[in-house]
Order: sequence, then C-alpha cells, then structure tokens
Amino acid sequence: MLNAVFRRIGSSLLLVGAVSLLAGCGPSAPTEGGAVSAQPAQVYRWKLITTWPKNLPGLGTAPERLADKLRVMSNGRLDIKVFGADELVGAFEVFDAVAQGTAEMGHGAAYYWRGKIPVAAMFSTVPFGMNAQEMNGWLHYGGGLELWQELYEPFGLVPLACGNSGVQMAGWFNKEINSLADLQGLKMRIPGLGGEVLKRAGGVPVSMPGSDVFTALQTGVIDATEWVGPYNDLALALHTAAKYYYYPGWHEPGPTLEAIVNKEAWESLPQDLQTMIEVATRAINDDMLSEFTARNNAALRTLIDEHGVELRKLPEDVIAELKKAADAVVAETAQEDELSQRIYDSYMGFLKDVRAYHEISETAYVNVR
Ligand code: CA
Repeated sequence: MLNAVFRRIGSSLLLVGAVSLLAGCGPSAPTEGGAVSAQPAQVYRWKLITTWPKNLPGLGTAPERLADKLRVMSNGRLDIKVFGADELVGAFEVFDAVAQGTAEMGHGAAYYWRGKIPVAAMFSTVPFGMNAQEMNGWLHYGGGLELWQELYEPFGLVPLACGNSGVQMAGWFNKEINSLADLQGLKMRIPGLGGEVLKRAGGVPVSMPGSDVFTALQTGVIDATEWVGPYNDLALALHTAAKYYYYPGWHEPGPTLEAIVNKEAWESLPQDLQTMIEVATRAINDDMLSEFTARNNAALRTLIDEHGVELRKLPEDVIAELKKAADAVVAETAQEDELSQRIYDSYMGFLKDVRAYHEISETAYVNVR
C-alpha cells in the first residue's frame, strides 16, 4: 500500500514522507539488506579503557571524542563510556582487560605490549623509522593493518589506528647530553624499542605510565623522560621538573596510537556500527595529528618565552650511536617467529621505498622552503 502511495507523489515529497515514517515509528535499525525494521534499535553500552590520564590534552581527549562521535553517528545505539588510566584498570593492564572482556574497547599504544609481543612495537613506532604520514600509508594502503590484525587475532582483539602525535621531542633532561659518555647510567623513562636502544647505548630505560612521570622526574627517581611534544608536555608541567628540552625525537618519529576492540564484542555489532567504528577511528587518527600540529607550535613558544625552557639538540655522535643500536634492536624483533619476520619485512620494505620517494618530495621541499 505504501508503494502505491509513494508512486503517486513526487520524489521530494517521498523523501519527507520517509523521514516522517521513520520518526513516527521511533528508533529503527537498518537490516543487512538495507530495509528498515520496525523493532526498537538495540543499544550497545560499552566501556573504553585507556592508558592515559583522564582527559589529558591530545592523548586522553581523543578517546572521549571518539566516543562522542560514535554516539552521535549511531543515534545513541553505540553508547561508550571512557575511563582514564587507573579508573577501572591500570594503564598497562588495558590490553589484557580488553582481551578478557572486562571492557569492550581500549585506547593506548602498541609498544606498551612489547613484553608480551615484542614485534607489536612496530605498529606504534620504530626508532629512526616511519613518520606519521608514512605510518598511515603503510597501515592503510601498504598491508600494515592486516598484519596488525593477524598479530592480535590470537588474543581476541581487533586493532585500529586511532591517533598520531607526529614526531616527538627527545625529552626532558636534568643532565646535559654533550657526548656518548653522558648516556652511561642515564635513568630515563622511555618505552618501546627506544628504551631498548637506550639500554644498548649504556642508559637505563624505565617504563612507567604518564601519570607517574612528573613525580619520578621531580624527585630524581629518573634523570630524564620522554613524553610527547610541547603541547602534551606543557599539560603535564614537565618543564617544572627538568632543565633541558632535547630534540629530535629519534625514538618516536610518528607513533600510531591504537584502538583495540574485544573480538566477541566486535562480532556482536551489526555491520553499520562496525563501519562507524572504522570510520570514526580513522577520523580521530587524522584529527589528533592535526591537533598536535596546530598546538605544538604555540606550546613551544610558551615553554621558551614564558617558562625559560632551554632547548637543546642531541649531539650528532650521540644520534649516530643510537641509530646504530636501533638497527640491531629492530632487526631482533623479527627473530621471534614467522609472523614477526613478515611484519618486519613489510615495515622495512615500505620504509625503504617511501624514504626514497620522500627524499625527493617531502624532505626536498622542506629543505628548500
Ligand atoms: Ca613518547
């Protein structure tokens, strides 16, 4: 009968009529075939646990934005509550908690799970490896995401890229780094492969979540810390706990952050909600890089002009030694098993090609502008 009615009215009226029809029926869910069912839509109430202090600018606000966008996009059908580190579980328990279903989703960085899966670090960042633009190319058009999904599959997790800070700073130091000798015994908070590289160069890497970094640096438990970059470091007030701010961030040239979804929870979703999560995480992945790109500049000016921060560049011989150690450390991650080797080969193959092209495009341009 409805079809007969629609045939008698113009196409514009048909659109208005269809919307009213939906509104009149209350919440409705599209079925797989695209038809509209009359049943009330199922609401999925999820928990999203993060490795960040609640609402930390950039890193902590990204999962909040993700949840907000998904709530609007899904018309309330995907209702996600975000928890900061230690609210539900500790920062470094996020991977296991999502795998076990304590929460349906997590937000963090793959290098935090290096103790469990050594090669996971390659999906966040590799010392002297790819930058943000290159990581996005590898993950989404170079086979990287498929390998990441294969790596997390046995843990019952679905990973998605969900944020990138761009090139980070080398970090905050209470000791001057003038030569290789100054790295000896240096106690530094530095996670992932970068920490292992520092160890090979004589330093003492320490792994701790962001919430503990400030106190550890201020009380001298550590001599130095890396965190992110001016925007995020200013928010943690790291300039009040250390004298020198070193660059470049050799250890984190464009870390990808991850959203992880419990596989059972993922599979319980209808396809449209899965697609919303895929699209929204990609949007946040891009949005975070835009935010850091815009805010780092202003924050660096504030740090230098208002807080008198001393900006320093790491000496060339120190960088050269770290790079040598990095090549060995990264190559070792491939030796774990066959999948680790495939991930390493894929990453390195993409890096080789993209570096050759970027030398005559991005880098060549930056050097002449
Ligand atoms: Ca960092």
